[in-house]
Amino acid sequence: MDKIQLKAYGKINLGLDVLRKRSDGYHDLEMIMQSVGVYDDVFIEKIEENKIVVKTDSLVLENEKGNLAYMAAKLLQDEFEIHQGVQITLYKRIPIAGGMAGGSADCAATLKGINELFSLGLSQEELMERGVKLGADVPYCILGGTALAEGIGEKLTPLPNPPKASVIIAKPPISVSTAFVYGRIRPEQLGKHPDTKGIMEALEQKSLKQLASLLFNVMETVTIPEYPIIEEVKQFLLAEGALGAIMSGSGPTVFALFDSEEKARQAYERLESANLTEQLYLTEFVDRESYWK
Ligand code: ATP
Repeated sequence: MDKIQLKAYGKINLGLDVLRKRSDGYHDLEMIMQSVGVYDDVFIEKIEENKIVVKTDSLVLENEKGNLAYMAAKLLQDEFEIHQGVQITLYKRIPIAGGMAGGSADCAATLKGINELFSLGLSQEELMERGVKLGADVPYCILGGTALAEGIGEKLTPLPNPPKASVIIAKPPISVSTAFVYGRIRPEQLGKHPDTKGIMEALEQKSLKQLASLLFNVMETVTIPEYPIIEEVKQFLLAEGALGAIMSGSGPTVFALFDSEEKARQAYERLESANLTEQLYLTEFVDRESYWK
């Protein structure tokens, strides 16, 4: 095998709670992760020269050492003393620095791709052990589907597939730094927390209504006062008939759940005309069974 093509899916958080700041500076989190059908295309091919080349269609991303796909390839190349180079080409669709773990998804796809391309024989668990060295969300991006993530995001428990829904993903034309959000969040002062157990019950019962009513992300307490356009996008989608709409991760991307594809399509078209977004997608959840397919 000389080349491989993978889909690196983005994630949303159906619930996101920050429990406490740890002494090492990280935060203990409790998140319900869900893959969605917005993905980057990741092509990996063997090349003659013994080096790692990364190409992307993004003007803002680093192509070399700062790219998480590069770091993933380098980690495996070093550990397994691989002396043949690779070229990795990324076609980005997941909003960059959007709260959808796009970098971690590309990293996970590269680990997976290199493992297959060079027949390294690493199991999913072994790939996840290596992934966590590159980012807290990488193990989840290797697993995919629906999962509870605890610790800094690396302790994973697979959950039942969600009910079917139409999902709008809307990124406002602003940049929010993850460091800014984590630097400002005060877990001890948060009035409201997501009902994580309730979300897990809604998944168990396949109730979209219940699930949508429980969506909650504590990071909004930091981002929305600073960037009111996030609230504007949420309200727009709710007024268009979404059952629920919240920000994903540290933002600024907002997602909304609909029980009717027709309503979702209409909301998509109206939001597109409203000039509130830079990237907009109408998609669905991706189950673990369809992940990496
Ligand atoms: P998270 O939800 O994990 O906090 P995010 O979705 O907010 O992440 P990403 O798109 O994953 O943000 O990227 C965060 C930063 O990682 C970017 O600003 C970029 O500089 C860096 N990065 C490195 N490699 C990549 C990549 N392949 N795709 C996107 N970002 C990358």
